[in-house]
Amino acid sequence: MSVPNAHLGPSRLLRGWGRTVPTSATMVPLLDPERVRHAVLTADRGVLGRGLGRSYGDGAQNSGGVIADGPSAIGVTSFDPDLGRVSVKAGTSLDQLMEWFVPLGWFVPVTPGTRQVTVGGAIAADIHGKNHHQAGSWCNHVEAFRIMIGSGDVINVSVATDPDLFWATAGGMGLTGVILEADIRMKKIETSRLVVDTDRAKDLDAVMDLMVTGDAEYDYSVAWIDLAATGAQLGRSVLDRGRFATVNELPSKMRPDPLAFVSNSLATVPGIFPSGLLNKLTVRAFNELWFRKAPEKRRDSVQSITQFFHPLDLVGDWNRIYGPRGFLQWQYVVPDSATEVVRQTIEELSSTGVSSFLAVLKRFGAGNEGHLSFPEAGWTLALDIPIGDQRLGPMLDRLDETVVGAGGRIYLAKDSRVRAELMPAMYPRLEQWRSVKARVDPKTRFQSDLGRRLGLC
Ligand SMILES: Cc1cc2nc3c(=O)[nH]c(=O)nc-3n(C[C@H](O)[C@H](O)[C@H](O)COP(=O)(O)OP(=O)(O)OC[C@H]3O[C@@H](n4cnc5c(N)ncnc54)[C@H](O)[C@@H]3O)c2cc1C
Repeated sequence: MSVPNAHLGPSRLLRGWGRTVPTSATMVPLLDPERVRHAVLTADRGVLGRGLGRSYGDGAQNSGGVIADGPSAIGVTSFDPDLGRVSVKAGTSLDQLMEWFVPLGWFVPVTPGTRQVTVGGAIAADIHGKNHHQAGSWCNHVEAFRIMIGSGDVINVSVATDPDLFWATAGGMGLTGVILEADIRMKKIETSRLVVDTDRAKDLDAVMDLMVTGDAEYDYSVAWIDLAATGAQLGRSVLDRGRFATVNELPSKMRPDPLAFVSNSLATVPGIFPSGLLNKLTVRAFNELWFRKAPEKRRDSVQSITQFFHPLDLVGDWNRIYGPRGFLQWQYVVPDSATEVVRQTIEELSSTGVSSFLAVLKRFGAGNEGHLSFPEAGWTLALDIPIGDQRLGPMLDRLDETVVGAGGRIYLAKDSRVRAELMPAMYPRLEQWRSVKARVDPKTRFQSDLGRRLGLC
């Protein structure tokens, strides 16, 4: 560890959740805006806000530069209990928001598959959840945020005061400035439980049909696809859909404390898993077991927030299971007109025998105005793939082109490898984003490994 400057902290080796390509950066606490400002005005390789490092690739890394460390800045600065409007420091996690506000009857407006993400990370990736078709993405529920821009000034930004900067920051992967605080509209809930319907679908057509015809009746919907299934079973899935329960829907023993919320992780994966432990056979066996264990059709099962939204959070550091080489996540969205691309990509991945645990299929509603925001109406598929198979890179490059050719795009918060030349086609508002970046950051003070890789800074 080195301490290069009294304003800066020690240097740290940082990874994304996929644990590939670690790089070092000097840390400053987000809690101390003066030190962040000093870094913004002086750092040679720029500054980047970082949350809990749950983006999979290099989005929250800044090799040789400075990182403003989000989790140093936690807490609520104001709360309106009538409107559910909360102002929080950007390093506050969704887990903490749930711990503090679920017992008061308020839930986060959007949650990803883990609640170990910060408010700053949620804005910078404009994260989506199982309710995108009903509620849009995270930044649709952000009223304003305070952000430090390239001059070192902190400004309050809302859609009313500066729509361009608001929408360039929503999904802008930290490259428009360091977010210090945000005002969010929470969602009112009567209980902390969900009423969930589950359907086992025998193939891809069956699950897509269920989603197209039925998702509108549910607040939340997600399908877990068995990528190991091929032939007539290609795309077989378990579809979980639900909404928050009313008090009357709870079993009587839960009614005295309808908003009870327990936040815990039960087990931690040790850091000793060799690469290769997850192979075709283990993954196939896991998928088979998981598919068989799901009920063929179940209605009105009452589930906790963790069971329904965040089952992976029950195992701390589960990303180590892929071994020291790490893994990548590939997530794309394509419009409804390109439904065939979903089949084509699943077919190709299944037939290559890529060892992926469950893949996730969701339907998005309309996207928002975020220049680099990922969601657009259509189908989104996300899957984890361990690093190691030589065929993987060329295959994903080819599939990226199929996705982009169909009018789709790759999710930057999950990405570690997409080619820069695809950016303008994937994100048609890129030039608009660049002009906002040039306005608020003319000296390119905000940089990241992802930004350099994709020509964004
Ligand atoms: C198990 C798992 C499931 C997931 N499921 C989903 C899902 O369903 N939907 C979804 O959308 N995403 C999902 N994700 C991805 C995750 O929600 C995003 O990557 C999110 O941005 C991570 O938040 P973080 O606080 O860890 O941010 P980091 O990963 O630390 O950073 C992400 C980006 O935010 C920027 N950033 C962070 N803090 C600040 C700040 N204060 N100021 C400016 N920029 C900042 C960083 O520079 C970086 O570009 C999942 C991730 C995991 C590990």
